[in-house]
Amino acid sequence: MSTPNERPVIRRCPICRKPRDPAFTPFCSTRCRDRDLVNWLEEGYTLPGPVVDPEGDPP
Ligand SMILES: [Zn+2]
Repeated sequence: MSTPNERPVIRRCPICRKPRDPAFTPFCSTRCRDRDLVNWLEEGYTLPGPVVDPEGDPP
């Protein structure tokens, strides 16, 4: 029970690869959490699909 290689896996922030903070899991900070959210939203905006006109008022 003394193998130095058997350590628990350190979960890292997917944004900056720093060890993540339990308070902001799976990220290391609010900054990375917000950044991931922005990335996600931008991906959603650029997804190909039916274009819906946001100003599409019926005549
Ligand atoms: Zn981070």
